[in-house]
Amino acid sequence: MAHRVFLVFVICRLIPTVGLTLQPAELLRLDVQGQLRLDPSDIAPASTDFGGTTRAEPLAVLHPASAGDVATLVRASYLSPRPFPISARGHGHSINGQAGAQHGVVIEMSQDVVLAGVNRARARPEYSSSRDEYYVDVWGGELWINVLKWTLANGGLAPKSWTDYLYLSVGGTLSNAGISGQAFNHGPQISNVHELDVVTGKGELVTCSEEHNTELFHGVLGGLGQFGIITRARIALEPAPQRVRWIRVLYSNFTAFTKDQEHLISLHSAPERQRFDYVEGFVIVDEGLINNWRSSFFSPSNPVKISSFGGANGGVLYCLEMTKNYDDTTAHSIDQDVEALLKMLDFIPASVFTTDLPYVDFLDRVHKAELKLRAKGLWDVPHPWLNLFVPASSIADLDRGVFRGILGNKTSGPILIYPMNKHKWDDRSSAVTPEEDVFYLVAFLRSALDDAGEPSKTLEHLSRDNQQILQFCREAGIETRQYLPHHETQSDWQKHFGHKWDRFLRRKAKFDPKFILGTGQGIFQTSALPYSSVFSS
Ligand code: FAD
Repeated sequence: MAHRVFLVFVICRLIPTVGLTLQPAELLRLDVQGQLRLDPSDIAPASTDFGGTTRAEPLAVLHPASAGDVATLVRASYLSPRPFPISARGHGHSINGQAGAQHGVVIEMSQDVVLAGVNRARARPEYSSSRDEYYVDVWGGELWINVLKWTLANGGLAPKSWTDYLYLSVGGTLSNAGISGQAFNHGPQISNVHELDVVTGKGELVTCSEEHNTELFHGVLGGLGQFGIITRARIALEPAPQRVRWIRVLYSNFTAFTKDQEHLISLHSAPERQRFDYVEGFVIVDEGLINNWRSSFFSPSNPVKISSFGGANGGVLYCLEMTKNYDDTTAHSIDQDVEALLKMLDFIPASVFTTDLPYVDFLDRVHKAELKLRAKGLWDVPHPWLNLFVPASSIADLDRGVFRGILGNKTSGPILIYPMNKHKWDDRSSAVTPEEDVFYLVAFLRSALDDAGEPSKTLEHLSRDNQQILQFCREAGIETRQYLPHHETQSDWQKHFGHKWDRFLRRKAKFDPKFILGTGQGIFQTSALPYSSVFSS
């Protein structure tokens, strides 16, 4: 079936279309309010990403002033007899060139509006009586940090579901899923969006939601930029808490650690006082990493020694991380509520670390670490990151084979591990997760330092580790799914999507029949297809 759909699809793609033949000068005359640029100073940043290991040079960059500009550009490609690739780029925080458009046009969705030469007005939050909930409409390229600042300043509101880092774009995370320690409770960010404006691969600007144009709505969420460019998203809000009690506890026993994590996320529907608001965790395989860049939590003047808790010398520790939100009305019970929750857990006695901070500071915690790393020149280095969704039934195998196996006692970066509830994900979206009710994110967030004089920190070494981890999972029969996926072949993509592959192809044929969008993901081998070199004449 999948092959038949794909064959029909490719045949349709190869049918010559009639229309305008676009020349560079004509493209520059496109009626856009923003700016279409060919300068090397625009091309260079649009050719790379946070991963720092790939390069795809577009021939032009659009700084759009509006959704209309995005539609004008995509329509120009769609109507051209030789359509050219177009990718939306959020903040360029992909790892493997996913937002690139080799020989095409990159749309810089998140860049300062000043670049586009316009003043894009923001909408204020509104209340929906049918949902009994606040929401806000935001530009698809808006960074989450700006959404937070805006909604706090306009009614003390905040989105419900987050990523750990807020300098990511709304369209970029919604094209993947957008996950963090709140996902067990609220679901990923794609479960907290009610309506989208999308420019499809035909250059049509379409409003879609649960009720209207549902196929496009669900397709775009987790859709890796394949079906349309998100220009507006309606995000669910809640009254923002004022403060956060942030707690970390340590385990040397992996079974106890995951049992407690899974117990905490099973409390998602318990009364608010009887559950945490955020549950994550990380693996500590070497002494240095208890104070890794993501762990600003532990004070540098009072570093926590892993050996004092039975780690190091081959030992691995696991850190469970939780938060409880509160404000003036609940401050009186926060100590009591946290204590009651901690009593249920089986961590190493005396390994409880607590801090208390404003909600915004907690949400923006990774940015603080970013600033420190930037100051040391350690942010703009290659990041061969690997993110896996792992079924709960196999997580102990990963501990044995990877945390206490392949990684040795050096990791070069944080390794996050936390479970999520599958029922909080909408199966109609394009996002792919394991089939079990509970699955884990395991994120190997490592930085390569080829100049450090340590072979275990080189890009080559870390990339080889990643391949070994994937091979171990294949051989152990662990049904992982990559999050922020990267696959080299069409058959690997087909395996990645599993039962969702046929639907993915049908959606591609319907919304981007000329394979214009999201070519940087490498899902369709478009180099074999007749792309134009519109700018090269
Ligand atoms: P880009 O990398 O620019 O784009 C990503 C993909 O989305 C591309 O295919 C692009 O074409 C497409 N795209 C971008 N904008 C649009 C749009 N408007 N419409 C349609 N398609 C679009 N992820 C999490 O889920 N949780 C985390 O906690 C988390 N933490 C991170 C921390 C750091 C330091 C970094 C670097 C990344 C983190 N990520 C996390 C990953 C992040 O979600 C992805 O990088 C994601 O792609 C968002 O980045 P971006 O906005 O820069 O998008």
